[in-house]
Amino acid sequence: MKKILVLEDESSIRSFVVINLRRSGYEPIEAETGEQALELLEQNPDVKVALLDVMLPGIDGYEVCRRIRATDSRVGIIMLTAKAQEMDKVTGLMTGADDYVTKPFSPAELTARVDALVRRTSVDEAPEDDGEIHQGPFRLNTRNRTLEKNGQRIKLTQIEYAIMKMFMDNPGRALSREDILNTVWGRDYFGELKIVDVNIRRLRIKIEDNSTIPTYITTVWGYGYKWGF
Ligand code: CA
Repeated sequence: MKKILVLEDESSIRSFVVINLRRSGYEPIEAETGEQALELLEQNPDVKVALLDVMLPGIDGYEVCRRIRATDSRVGIIMLTAKAQEMDKVTGLMTGADDYVTKPFSPAELTARVDALVRRTSVDEAPEDDGEIHQGPFRLNTRNRTLEKNGQRIKLTQIEYAIMKMFMDNPGRALSREDILNTVWGRDYFGELKIVDVNIRRLRIKIEDNSTIPTYITTVWGYGYKWGF
């Protein structure tokens, strides 16, 4: 069974989430504090997705996310945000989360988000076309899902890797935000298009020479993005 870490200090919300994950066939692991969550992740390296509440006693969910990403780019991370924290969504995603769900959320919505990320983080279990895509200073290894720029390894999350793969499969072609969302997150994904923009912004910081003047991932106004040189 696929393990999902649930970090939430409010026990009523936590049990609601846990019951619904269990019903969908997952094995939830519960944490009440950020510190506990980090410990549990260390003990369970096979956790597929971590659900992180933001407001917590002790270190907050963003800090937990930052610490996870410092060593682990593989696990999927979904932030659980309250309405009042909507302004912080972008901040949260910039710390390395893949997605966010706004409270209150329905069981169906949460499960759909988890399913989408689990699929994304599990793709390496299925053999993909092996080999390399080499474009400009970039070398994408599709067997071990790594990216190098001028021979330097760039650490990517699974979502960022999937976006890079889509770009490098379509050099010079304008890709709509909807296309990117459908390909990377899946067609049954409930999320907002904004998630594409935030992930692209984070990707630019990692791969562009100067992320404020992007030259590899350019914006196609009112449509989407284009990969090229
Ligand atoms: Ca809380």
